[in-house]
Amino acid sequence: MAIERTLSIIKPDAVAKNVIGKIYQRFEDAGLKIVASKMVHLSEREAGQFYAVHKERPFFKDLVSFMISGPVMIQALEGENAIATNRDLMGATDPKKAAPGTIRADFADSIDANAVHGSDAPETAAVEIAFFFPGMNVYAR
Ligand code: UDP
Repeated sequence: MAIERTLSIIKPDAVAKNVIGKIYQRFEDAGLKIVASKMVHLSEREAGQFYAVHKERPFFKDLVSFMISGPVMIQALEGENAIATNRDLMGATDPKKAAPGTIRADFADSIDANAVHGSDAPETAAVEIAFFFPGMNVYAR
């Protein structure tokens, strides 16, 4: 199995709920290592750049407003199939559809305030890790 790195963000709603530690525990219990982390309050420009792929979507403006509504916790995770493993831990985008026991089922309130972000493919993981951790090796050694 491939050792991968992926980019994870604990969004403002989950940071405000004080569940960073609980979410980190889930990463570690699933065998994912936190290999970089930082708490930041994103600017509108940074959030817009990060979500540029969604620029034409109707929810883009609200998404950016939400992402800058408070601090976020950003981490790079490493482990076997880290990208899919993290996506499994997160659950479906809409918490109402997320499987029981997933982060979004347990901590998210709505499709816009949905607790976490996770890269969805190796290419996006590489771009997203480089965006927040410039100079970091985007692939596992
Ligand atoms: N989003 C939203 N409304 C929608 C779809 C998406 O607010 O109808 C937001 C939501 O926060 C989601 C993010 O846009 O996490 C990115 O959407 P994507 O489809 O990439 O979902 P994800 O990969 O985060 O599950």
